[in-house]
Amino acid sequence: MALKQTDLLQQLLVQYRDQKLSHAFLLETNNVLQCMLEIKEFLKHINCEEEFQENCDKCNLCHLINNSLLPNLLIIEPDGQVIKKEQIIELKKMFQTKPVFSKYNMYIIKNAECLNSSSANTMLKFLEEPDGNILGFFITNNKENVIDTIKSRCQIFFAHYPLEVEKINEEYENLAISFIKEVEMVKDQAIFYVDELTLKLTKISDYQYLLKVMLKIYLNLYNEKINNKEDSIKELAFIKKQTEQYLFKKIKIIKELLEQIQCNVNTQLLLERFVLES
Ligand SMILES: [Zn+2]
Repeated sequence: MALKQTDLLQQLLVQYRDQKLSHAFLLETNNVLQCMLEIKEFLKHINCEEEFQENCDKCNLCHLINNSLLPNLLIIEPDGQVIKKEQIIELKKMFQTKPVFSKYNMYIIKNAECLNSSSANTMLKFLEEPDGNILGFFITNNKENVIDTIKSRCQIFFAHYPLEVEKINEEYENLAISFIKEVEMVKDQAIFYVDELTLKLTKISDYQYLLKVMLKIYLNLYNEKINNKEDSIKELAFIKKQTEQYLFKKIKIIKELLEQIQCNVNTQLLLERFVLES
């Protein structure tokens, strides 16, 4: 059984097709470049003058989006360490009028964690009084670092792309699935399962890999839950009855463990922590 890749584009298109498109998204990603490409692909889809085709080269609009030259698509990056209030004021000024060249006025804010309270406050009007013509994307590598006023007004998506491993090792995937199942079903009792698990893992990199697979599984569960997508892993589908908050917490714990594993830690203890903090 292979895990499905996180497919941001697909999720956005479904929302668009169902006419349930949010007006602002917070995207947590491990690959900003890839994430930008997917967003642009989506924007071409919904704005294209022709019947959209992949790599549309017929219309000028797609060409302009590809090259970040469309006046109605504003891409904001931090000016130094922060995204300044003036940059947001500029954005608001530009979007006072309805879009002329495209269906939407669109903005992409890179490094959304660099919005400070003053620039975020300036942003709020957009987010509180959604104008049907405005569509926004906030990109970050860690949503925990994004100011709450922004976070709470966006729909959150995870766009995690495979790093060094293109295809997940099936043995590890099965280990991760059994472990997660154990933790979710018998809670603290799963601590006994850790012993069994550690017999199969020898190097730190084995633990690291297992945690990465677990992270991917929870990210998928989250994305499937909010998009009502079909279960990629049937045996774990029951976890989706939990709240989004619950899944966030799991994702956060695993990320913390992945950070800690880089320092010399007792790896068995690390897995036990996952059980006990879950
Ligand atoms: Zn086109």
